[in-house]
Amino acid sequence: MTEPATPPVIRLGGVRKEFSNGVVALDGLDLEVREGEFLSLLGPSGCGKSTALRIVAGLMSADAGAVQVAASVAAGDASQHDIAYVFQEPTLMPWASAFDNVWLPLRLAGIPRRDAGDRVRAALAGVGLDGFEAAYPRELSGGMRMRVSIARALVTRPRLLLMDEPFAALDEITRFKLNDDLLRLTEAQGWTVVFVTHSVFESAFLASRIAVMSARPGRIAGEIAVDVPYPRSAAFRTDPRFAEICRATSTVLQRAMGEAA
Ligand code: ADP
Repeated sequence: MTEPATPPVIRLGGVRKEFSNGVVALDGLDLEVREGEFLSLLGPSGCGKSTALRIVAGLMSADAGAVQVAASVAAGDASQHDIAYVFQEPTLMPWASAFDNVWLPLRLAGIPRRDAGDRVRAALAGVGLDGFEAAYPRELSGGMRMRVSIARALVTRPRLLLMDEPFAALDEITRFKLNDDLLRLTEAQGWTVVFVTHSVFESAFLASRIAVMSARPGRIAGEIAVDVPYPRSAAFRTDPRFAEICRATSTVLQRAMGEAA
């Protein structure tokens, strides 16, 4: 018997979610994510990707099934979170500077502004925003606002990063740049990542494994292992292996959507 080396960080078994209006968003969702994986959760709009991610984050409960998310950060350190969540919208406080937006989770953990300075500045530098500490969200481009949002996740030193279509609203050039930077950060931080997207290309570029969801009610329709080592540079986008992964993923996605039609 071959036993996988690392235990799962996330284990969902037979998860069902029905909203009060009768919409069954998920039914029979099984998913495991292991330490250090970059899992892309790919599917058409409305198939339940965000619902699945919110259940993993504990922002919403499942109606049936098993939900296990490993928590390993020592209790008592409120400034360090196991899980960070990055939304599609940067969700920044418009009246607060980039520094104060990134400080927020530390502030909520009781860390005064002056003591948080090094960590906040390091998080902003980590996303390429050194020198922008005093800037307000309205003074920043969409890509920079998303960088602030990622820095706010980074500052809590999470183990598990949950991202819900974080770059969907950005132009393609900015998205490519943020994809490159996300991979660099993931390698440096040792994150386990679950990344929700409806983009086959984004999945193929970022992920170590792609889980394709069926149309609603969502469940996993198929998986594609992306056996291309990191670091992956921009050149990977024109690599024949990239094209092959996109082709294989599109085939699974089309089948998943066809089954539901
Ligand atoms: P995705 O992220 O794949 O676009 P969602 O998880 O956001 O899909 O939504 C799945 C389905 O559940 C959609 O049909 C959506 O309209 C519905 N839905 C999501 N949230 C709610 C809610 N709070 N109440 C009722 N229906 C919801």
